[in-house]
Amino acid sequence: MPEMAKDSTTDPKATPNYLDTDVSRLQSVASRRLSLLHKLEIYTVYDLLTYFPRGYQDWTHLVPIVELKDGQEQSFSALVRQKPSIRRKGRLSIVRSVLSDESGTIRVVWFNQPYIATRIKKDETYLFRGRVRRDGTVFAVTNPALESADEGTAPGLKPVYALTAGLTQGFVRTLISGILPQGIMAVQDILPPDLRRREQLCTAAFAYEKIHQPSSDEDLQIAAKRLIYEELFLVQGGLRWFRRQTRTNTRAYPLSLTNETKAVLEGAILRLPFRLTEDQRTVIEECKKDMSGGIPMNRLVQGDVGSGKTAVAMIAMLYAALGGGQSVLMAPTSILATQHMATISRFLEGTGVEAALLLGSTPAAEKRRIREKLLTGQIHLLIGTHAVLGDGVVFRRLALTVTDEQHRFGVRQRAAFFDRDNHIPHTLVMSATPIPRTLALILYGDLDISIIHSIPAGRIPVETYTAEDKDEERLFGIVRRQVEAGHQVYWICPTIAASEADNDADDNKEEEEERLLSAEELYARLSGEVFPDGKVGLLHGGMKPSEKDLIMRRFLAGEISILVATTVVEVGVDNPNATLMIIENAERFGLSQLHQLRGRVGRGTNRSICVLKSAKKEGLAKERLKAVCSTTDGFVLAQKDLELRGPGDFFGTRQHGIPALRIANLFRDTDVLARVSLDLERIFREDPDLTMPPHAMLPKAFILRFGSEIEHPSL
Ligand code: ADP
Ligand code: MG
Repeated sequence: MPEMAKDSTTDPKATPNYLDTDVSRLQSVASRRLSLLHKLEIYTVYDLLTYFPRGYQDWTHLVPIVELKDGQEQSFSALVRQKPSIRRKGRLSIVRSVLSDESGTIRVVWFNQPYIATRIKKDETYLFRGRVRRDGTVFAVTNPALESADEGTAPGLKPVYALTAGLTQGFVRTLISGILPQGIMAVQDILPPDLRRREQLCTAAFAYEKIHQPSSDEDLQIAAKRLIYEELFLVQGGLRWFRRQTRTNTRAYPLSLTNETKAVLEGAILRLPFRLTEDQRTVIEECKKDMSGGIPMNRLVQGDVGSGKTAVAMIAMLYAALGGGQSVLMAPTSILATQHMATISRFLEGTGVEAALLLGSTPAAEKRRIREKLLTGQIHLLIGTHAVLGDGVVFRRLALTVTDEQHRFGVRQRAAFFDRDNHIPHTLVMSATPIPRTLALILYGDLDISIIHSIPAGRIPVETYTAEDKDEERLFGIVRRQVEAGHQVYWICPTIAASEADNDADDNKEEEEERLLSAEELYARLSGEVFPDGKVGLLHGGMKPSEKDLIMRRFLAGEISILVATTVVEVGVDNPNATLMIIENAERFGLSQLHQLRGRVGRGTNRSICVLKSAKKEGLAKERLKAVCSTTDGFVLAQKDLELRGPGDFFGTRQHGIPALRIANLFRDTDVLARVSLDLERIFREDPDLTMPPHAMLPKAFILRFGSEIEHPSL
């Protein structure tokens, strides 16, 4: 391993750390640029140091002119054959010249870079890099980057940084190379030396220098390896550390039932309109066991759409209530919260347990009343949207929090709930998104995972087909037959209103222009001409909560047969009588989203159909739709989505609220993640409080890197 620079493990308290220096104090940063740097979330020298390149320009592989390929960005070394000419047209300037090497010649043009005319000299050789156009043996290049070809100053691999409008590559490069010498001296090597040796990782100083200024491909690999490890070490270690702090400093209410309350719970379960599946029972037992202890439960329940997670949550909440604690259920939308309230109220009948629904639209007086009753303990179960529930709600004895569709929330959005005695509640998190275990660890810290594999008996898998505009009449026929049979239909559009669709097209002029069917248009059409006497309803996110609630209730009551909707119905909505779903512009949706949407039908015992409408006849879009047609297994689709689209899209790590990673990739680097996990286990086993010399600086490092981003209620 190269040990190019010394470890700098000096006491950070001795001098103010250079890494904390505000970027505004760097010489080249004027105030206009400061705000642009802030846009990139760069505030300090440390942020600059960890602003890793998104790629590199390779100036080491020089291509002879005759071998330059059309349309690719390439580097070549060439002699300036012709004195550069400069022409001005109004505000536009054009510099032209001809370059050559032994193999051929190439024409070059620079727009609006008049200084080039004086920078390059006839009969001298330079390095050029740009996108080449080639037509047979005629070569041309526009606005190539330019470097001196002198031995020693030739650039090699040049970093390319992600920018924002107003910042240039040159500016960011200069800024970063300016802080590097002092920066790498100040950076701490947070990885314990024996760990570094075992994992064969280079020093921090070497890594931070070479990631920005690699002298070879090999150096770059060595630097990247270390930094990827370090980043995953910090995020995973940080989550563990913060969680540990929470666990050791806090207690949850241990909940247990008497024979009498046990009977109440059993009675309520028996009154459910179905028998619990084996998996549901197992998960419920796991929850009960966790909740009977004083260590806060931290459990994720994973189960595909329709697997019956709600029942598990309800039973856990009733258990908590009967054990003398309050609980709160958070849903991502008010539609879903309202639905949960209805289901739970039915479930609680005869148990003496009280539930309340709290939404943004709840009248102020009612909100006040609910809050008072929470404080006195008269309300045992609180249900609502996430936005509302975190907001100053104080419980008398909060024992359990349940988050439905957790993948919809970020870590930072997780509300911190406390009750009067500052107990930490047991936590139950439910998600339909299949997350590999290693990822789940990163996402939720050291949580326990329960999986519901089985789907309630009697379900028939939803049949899925694709269709085009020309199939419309046939579709109308299918809709009519379903409605006549007393069933209901969801008809999903990608946008609410027509204008919104047009704007969207404007933004994407370069993409193929395509009309998106809006919910309002479709609703007008279906209720006007196609099903004039049918019962068509409209539901979208732009409507007032009370309107949405009314429509949803009429749909659930069967007063609306055809519900034209946007993706507001995507998660959780449960109407077992709905048997047909039509999705317009299906190519617009992600695979997991289509799977979730489709999960709205096929919830009863009737045969259900899902139709994916799309004008796309080939390509990736078509392939993705085919994948949805071919399976109803969410886990298989998740895998497929990864293959087809690449990792970023499916899980949308941002959406999950993982601290934004700067260099590691959770999918590419799963093996590193696993090793980090083992290494951390060893460290925490040997030194749980991280007080031994090689570990003592870790807590600080966790906070420096992720402290403002991850959940750590105890700090
Ligand atoms: P999800 O896991 O997607 O949240 P839900 O909890 O909404 O699923 O359940 C889907 C449907 O299945 C609901 O109508 C629910 O009443 C029903 N259900 C739940 N558990 C069972 C079961 N054990 N047997 C039959 N139906 C069930
Ligand atoms: Mg659900």
